[in-house]
Amino acid sequence: MPYDDSNIFARILRGEIPCNKIAEDDHALAFHDIAPQAPVHALVIPKGAYTDFDDFSANAPDAELAGFWRMVGQVGRMLGVAQSQSGGGYRLISNAGADAHQEVPHFHVHLVGGHPVGRMLPGAG
Ligand code: AMP
Repeated sequence: MPYDDSNIFARILRGEIPCNKIAEDDHALAFHDIAPQAPVHALVIPKGAYTDFDDFSANAPDAELAGFWRMVGQVGRMLGVAQSQSGGGYRLISNAGADAHQEVPHFHVHLVGGHPVGRMLPGAG
């Protein structure tokens, strides 16, 4: 699927609409989800144009891959949910494509925590 640069995260990256920023560097931007599903619900996005994890993992340069994942960990520590910060831990989620209900077609990782977030999938034992 070609990248659609009218998606909402592309618009945030271009500064066309605001976000509640947590952190930013050369490779990635982290901000609070507008409709949080847990006490902590952050989104981390790469600055490059990738539709989903499949695209990002196949096509991002090594420096961007490394910078992105370091930012994800940094956000967990900044928000106090990382176990190294005496937090309770967190879950990372990345929806990729229709079966996963991806809504915004710019690769992103959700970081959710701040309370027990339950089992991994609805109905899982
Ligand atoms: P996904 O279903 O994985 O594509 O998730 C997209 C996420 O983006 C949802 O959790 C939305 O609440 C969130 N979202 C949509 N628009 C914005 C926005 N303008 N700022 C922050 N989060 C947003």
